Parts: sequence; C-alpha cells; structure tokens
Amino acid sequence: MKTIGLLGGMSWESTIPYYQIINEEVRDKLGGLHSAKIVLFSVEFEEIEQCQSSGDWEKSGDILGKAAQGLEAAGADMLLICTNTMHKVAPQIASMVQIPLVHIADATADELEKSQIRRVGLLGTKYTMTQDFYKQILIDRGIDVVIPDAEDVGTVNDVIFHELCVGEIREESRRQFQRIIGSLKEKGAEGVILGCTEIGLLIQQSDSPLPVFDTTVIHAKRAAQIALGIEA
Ligand code: GLU
Repeated sequence: MKTIGLLGGMSWESTIPYYQIINEEVRDKLGGLHSAKIVLFSVEFEEIEQCQSSGDWEKSGDILGKAAQGLEAAGADMLLICTNTMHKVAPQIASMVQIPLVHIADATADELEKSQIRRVGLLGTKYTMTQDFYKQILIDRGIDVVIPDAEDVGTVNDVIFHELCVGEIREESRRQFQRIIGSLKEKGAEGVILGCTEIGLLIQQSDSPLPVFDTTVIHAKRAAQIALGIEA
C-alpha cells in the first residue's frame, strides 16, 4: 500500500473528513483491520489566508512547497493539497517535490465525465469561482462552467471563511446555498461542484436540487484508490 501525503489545515475543519474518508475507503476495499498509511502536514491557516488576501501567492506556494517536502521526507508516495483554492499554486508546489500531485480538479473532472455532465455549476471561494486556474482545467476537458452572480459569489465566499472554516454550520446559510444552487440550475447547470473542501460540511446531496460533486469526497477517495492500486 502506498503512503498518502496530506497538505491539510486549510482549514483544519475539512482535513478531518479527508482522514475519515480515506480510511473508510481502505476499510471498505480491504475489510478487517486495514487502514490507510497517511502522513499529514497541517499548516497554520491564518498565515496562508493572509497571503491570499494580500495577493502574495508566491509566498503561500513557498510555504506549502516546503511543507510538501516534509511530507516527501516522511515517506509520502503522493501529495494531496486539501483545498481547491491553493491549487492556484499547485505548479509551484509540485515543482518542489518528486512525488506526484493528485490534482483535485482533475479528479473532479473525471467524475463529471463519468456522469456525462457537460455544464456544471461551481461553488467555492471567490478565487476559485472567479479566476481561471481551476475552471480552465474543466473547460479544457470540454465541460462548461457556470458560477453564481457577483453578489452570491460574495455570499458563498463569506460563508466559507467566516462560518465553515471556523466550524459554524448555520441553517440560514444552508438555505442560501440551496437558493444559489437553484440559480445555477436555472443557468443550465446539470450538476454542482462543491469546489471548496468545507462546503460538504453544510450541503449534502439531499439538500441540493442538482447532483452534487463534493471535491473532498472525490479527492480523498481517489487518493485511497491510488494507494491501493485500484483503477478509479
Ligand atoms: N478549503 C477551501 C477550498 O477548498 C478554502 C480555504 C482556502 O482558501 O484554502 O478552497
């Protein structure tokens, strides 16, 4: 079994499900007492968020690249960046290690293709929704991406940073997300990407008027399958 390296803590609230889902997947596939081999580097998220809001992405890439080197030195065979947003600096991080990066957008695009989704809604931080680094990967695979209107981009971003990343789950925010997913459906989306690793803490399939693609679940399961040598 290969060892999975997790670059977590962004936020730590979403690193918990990564650990659980990976181990559940290994248990389900192998049974008995089997569990995953994982090394985790959990960063100080305040430091990373300050780089985001000041636009110093290179500094954040350097911090995360050095953490990734720590995972590699600790025996990780692959690297997962446990946040969609910080995939903005995925090339910089990947260039600092030898081990392969399991890219969250590639894994998500694979699942969208399996479900034959041609047009998808994207929820995430304002960086993920409005910039190209994430959407372009889907577009290059022939998948159309729709995002919420400007005001709703702000709402989703605020809920992520002010509630979900600090462990607050509010019914009012769940209703707002349901409304926003409904608006993506009106724009022709056939599914919705929960493109922020905390959104699954708020929205489950049963809450959504569209099929949900939870990037935390997709990414974590993919890692477990690679570790076990199972084709996705
Ligand atoms: N975990 C979130 C994501 O998947 C947001 C936190 C961050 O900015 O890294 O994008």
